[in-house]
Amino acid sequence: MDDKDNTEGVISRREILAMGTILGGMSIAAPVSAQSLGNVLGSAKKVAKAANYSDAEMKVYFDQMSEEMDSNNPVAGADDPYGQRLAALSQGLETYDGLDLDIKAYLVRDVNAFAMANGTIRIFAGLMDDFTDDEVRYVIGHEIGHVKREHTKKRMQGALQREAAVSVAGTASSDVKRLASSELGKLFGDVISAQHSQKNERQADDYAFEFMEANNYDTQACVTALEKLAGMGGGSGGLPWLQTHPSPDSRAKRMRKKL
Ligand SMILES: [Zn+2]
Repeated sequence: MDDKDNTEGVISRREILAMGTILGGMSIAAPVSAQSLGNVLGSAKKVAKAANYSDAEMKVYFDQMSEEMDSNNPVAGADDPYGQRLAALSQGLETYDGLDLDIKAYLVRDVNAFAMANGTIRIFAGLMDDFTDDEVRYVIGHEIGHVKREHTKKRMQGALQREAAVSVAGTASSDVKRLASSELGKLFGDVISAQHSQKNERQADDYAFEFMEANNYDTQACVTALEKLAGMGGGSGGLPWLQTHPSPDSRAKRMRKKL
């Protein structure tokens, strides 16, 4: 891939990989198997916690995951062109639908984006290169949709209960512990990098459409963004965002009907 003027300073996927971070698949650092995690944590400590984790507990884990991701990826600063553009196009979105949003760009040349239930939204420079402002807004709305429809929260509940992280988190007290990088990486893989169902995608798209209308953004961008993604193609093995948010073709057709 040739460097373009406007992508100066953007780190390629290969460079990121060399830094020890795997994006797209997006585990952080080296993947750690459940078994080795179990060894590390000690299976005797594992407590079956039937109760749900509180929103406050989960927010702490989302905060830790956000910190970990930001420390593993180049975050566009306020002076960076990507940071400036993203700040401008998301002006007025400091809070939306009861969620405090923290929207930043990663200077990484992947077509990707993600959101967490604590309001963290990260848009990758590769996606910003290909998308208009309104198309980026559609992605932001779609990601908020996954949060507000509680897809992200439910996954976190499941992951905490299922995974070895429960050994750390699920003690009798409600203490929320600092998770190690490897544990946060695994959690990120389970909660953020896993593929959404078609039902979840439809809900997030519907949310995005309403988000665009509510903010007086161009709803047409819901369709053009998805068509663009479909055109970039690669199907489920292609663009990182398509791996987690599949079937852009049928989703574009569905969005078109709403216009
Ligand atoms: Zn999605």
